[in-house]
Amino acid sequence: MAKETTEKPVIGARQTVRFEHSDPVTRLCQACGGTQEGRHQNYSYTESGLDNVVLLDVLVFNCKCGEIAAQIPAVSVLHQIIAAEILKKPTLIAGEEIRYMRKFVACSAVEFAGIIGSSKISISRWENGARIPPNTDRLLRLAFFTKIVERAAEAAIGPGDTDHTATVVAFARKVRSFNLTSFLRTIKDVQDRMTIKIDPATVKRFSQEDGVTSTLQLSSDTASRV
Ligand SMILES: [Zn+2]
Repeated sequence: MAKETTEKPVIGARQTVRFEHSDPVTRLCQACGGTQEGRHQNYSYTESGLDNVVLLDVLVFNCKCGEIAAQIPAVSVLHQIIAAEILKKPTLIAGEEIRYMRKFVACSAVEFAGIIGSSKISISRWENGARIPPNTDRLLRLAFFTKIVERAAEAAIGPGDTDHTATVVAFARKVRSFNLTSFLRTIKDVQDRMTIKIDPATVKRFSQEDGVTSTLQLSSDTASRV
């Protein structure tokens, strides 16, 4: 049975994957004013700047006028999950993934070049697909991870002088469980495409984890800049 919804889409869309189950939800199209139907389906999340992220089972509205929009819950959490997937990609990270991560940690190209002792031109080349050597791959991941940890530490301690023992301990556990340096030794030094599939259960699980330290904690304003 169709029902009305007035919720706005979080994100506009260009591409969808395949239809899934469920009755349609209808609402007015913001583009043409007609009625559009929303259904749960898989969705290629190209708004992230990545063409290899598929969100499973999200509500997508398709209008006869061509307008397509997905309702994406917990966008900041989603961006954290994508970042974690990229940091732990088993093969060399690709240009668009480098760009995603740099934006995720809210660094300009100049700022990031300064961190890794490189140039803005090199950053731009890598982000546009130039092949990176294995040691650069590791350097980039370590730099991104360090930025994430710095922000997480700041969030875990927070302002004021209240007792933050619990959040700091939870944060330390996260860093330990992420175990990046062990992972870095296992990366295969080949270029490879990887599809990141994210299901609603994963988003829900991450959303429910101890707020401050979820995925090494990145602030939602950081994530939404992606
Ligand atoms: Zn329309």
